[in-house]
Amino acid sequence: MRLPYAPFLALTLGLAATPALADRLKVVTTFTVLADMAQNVAGDAADVVSITKPGAEIHGYEPTPRDIVRAAKSDLILYNGLGLELWFDQFIANLGVIPSETLSTGIDEIPVAQGAYEGKPNPHAWMGLANAQIYVDNIAAALAKHDPANAATYTANAAAYKQQLIATIEPLRARVAQIREDQRWLVTCEGAFSYLARDFAMQELYLWPMNADQTGTPQQVRGVIDGVRDHDIPVVFCESTVNTAPAEQVARETGVRFGGVLYVDSLSGPDGPVPSYLDLLRVTAQTIADGLDAKGSN
Ligand SMILES: [Zn+2]
Repeated sequence: MRLPYAPFLALTLGLAATPALADRLKVVTTFTVLADMAQNVAGDAADVVSITKPGAEIHGYEPTPRDIVRAAKSDLILYNGLGLELWFDQFIANLGVIPSETLSTGIDEIPVAQGAYEGKPNPHAWMGLANAQIYVDNIAAALAKHDPANAATYTANAAAYKQQLIATIEPLRARVAQIREDQRWLVTCEGAFSYLARDFAMQELYLWPMNADQTGTPQQVRGVIDGVRDHDIPVVFCESTVNTAPAEQVARETGVRFGGVLYVDSLSGPDGPVPSYLDLLRVTAQTIADGLDAKGSN
């Protein structure tokens, strides 16, 4: 009598061993930076994946059918907001009833200074230290709202992660603060560093305000060449997700150094230089500090 039930029993036991994994909250984010932040807050309590891949251009991304299928199977979608993801409204409309939460709520906005997005909030708020901590709190609140059983875990993980954030960025901020004030210029391709520049007491100059706008026109190149000459700026940078040629042209024509690649919109893959958000902050701030220090202005 008992023998026929044995396989059924085994199957039941086998299933009983895995529900912790199957029941974990499944979270999707719009880009890799948010995914890494969210995974740090989630710890082992939730699974997080990014729609856009490492190295991707994220403003004007075109979601694939596979992205939609994956997101439709998730429990929660986390996105930046502030107009960063131009594709998001259409994307979420295709998913049906998946809840979504914006992570930039409550941040201290800086408006875009020029171009088609003039006056709108600059969406790259995760690059500011105080704002990044607000993102972390918003992630913890969003996860707790959709998975109340693990709320205490999310709160504790968020607190620890914020301490890591501060420990990562404060020494670099202190280093940049030692650079002479009139040399503290941050020249980039996209105007994606307004929040970092505010934190680091730097002035910014960029080729184009947003990757979603026109990029690298002759007028934009000319404008930055003039700015570099007017302010005697020693170094220019560009970001990992865009064409660096216009910035290198500025460096060539002005005779200043090209200081290398900064990371802002996208992480690298696991074997690259910035597999995590803390790496992204550290490498970017270090590249800026190294580029300015190399002039020997002190
Ligand atoms: Zn951007």
